[in-house]
Amino acid sequence: MNNQINQELFFNLSYSDLEKTIATWNEPSFRVQQIWQGVYQKFWNEPDQFSSLPKLFREKLFTYFKFSSLSPIKVISSQDKETQKTLFSLEDNYAIEAVLMKYDQRRTLCISTQAGCAMGCVFCATGQMGFKRHLQSGEIIEQVLYYARELAKSEEKVTNIVLMGMGEPFHNYDATLKAIDLLNDQRGFGLGARRFTISTVGLVPMIRKFADEDRQINLAISLHATTNEERSSLIPINKKYSIEQIMEAVRYYVEKTNRRVTFEWALIAGKNDSESTARQLAHLLRGILCHVNVIPLNPTSQSIYQPSSKEQTKLFQQILEQFGIPCTIRIRRGIDIQAGCGQLAVKMTDPSTMI
Ligand code: SAH
Ligand code: SF4
Repeated sequence: MNNQINQELFFNLSYSDLEKTIATWNEPSFRVQQIWQGVYQKFWNEPDQFSSLPKLFREKLFTYFKFSSLSPIKVISSQDKETQKTLFSLEDNYAIEAVLMKYDQRRTLCISTQAGCAMGCVFCATGQMGFKRHLQSGEIIEQVLYYARELAKSEEKVTNIVLMGMGEPFHNYDATLKAIDLLNDQRGFGLGARRFTISTVGLVPMIRKFADEDRQINLAISLHATTNEERSSLIPINKKYSIEQIMEAVRYYVEKTNRRVTFEWALIAGKNDSESTARQLAHLLRGILCHVNVIPLNPTSQSIYQPSSKEQTKLFQQILEQFGIPCTIRIRRGIDIQAGCGQLAVKMTDPSTMI
């Protein structure tokens, strides 16, 4: 049915949108639940799979709606098979990527919210691509359904979703929150709000807006520096929203939600990994319900920065913990498949480095 024009992507619909459509088609309302469960619990996306629906109705459904807008164009697995990355082409040919990480019983997806990113962080491959466009909520959801379908083959399920792929989720706030709400819907996919983590570069008005919504979704802030001078040199948007403004917004968030915030810290050798920086960070975070997630930098082709050594990483963690700030070191999983933010899509769009 791809020759149909103006077909709406099904995953952009909420349950009540579907109810309205089914009502205007004069179909019985129980069809809504049938379709919703087919899509979000069985991950069907082809007409034949909906065999319990009358044939004509099925055809109408697939004429009005499309159930696929992402084409997987490359799938790569890490050597240990624990990390898998898929590069998708969107209908307008922009590329995005999503990553599945298997760790113990967890099946965590890292998904994208935008094609490219407008924030231009100097250490980030996506940032170096520039901004292409926002993803629709349905395109965000489709990444999840793709992996849910893959995992279902071995009777596994998605257990966690982090919005840490390409793009800045709070720059595409409404579509991101709508996608989470739909995936959270108990009548369908039903993944609990606490299983989601939104990571933001620190868009202050959106952190406050998010706090006001009083949701159970986890929040992570990409901090990476303790002074505005340093942070602005890595993260240009810091010139607009300073560290002080971010910390104030985070305090507001914790006060409103009573939820622990994660601070992300990409450790860059000789840049933000010294013992004195660790002490400054501990000082900055004093009294905030939080923990720090340090991750040795994933080097990208466009930037000169290199990851900190194992020893320096450990030392950084120890200092934070001495000051009572819980700190975990995120293992750099899937380094052999360029599982870092946006690295595969960059390769695909740069002919000189095509793999
Ligand atoms: N735009 C959001 C979410 C996507 S980036 C944000 O910036 O938070 C997800 C995380 O990957 C962020 O913490 C970001 O700082 C980090 N990141 C980006 N490039 C990286 C790299 N080369 N090495 C390590 N972490 C990186
Ligand atoms: Fe965008 Fe996040 Fe990359 Fe910065 S780190 S450029 S905000 S995706």
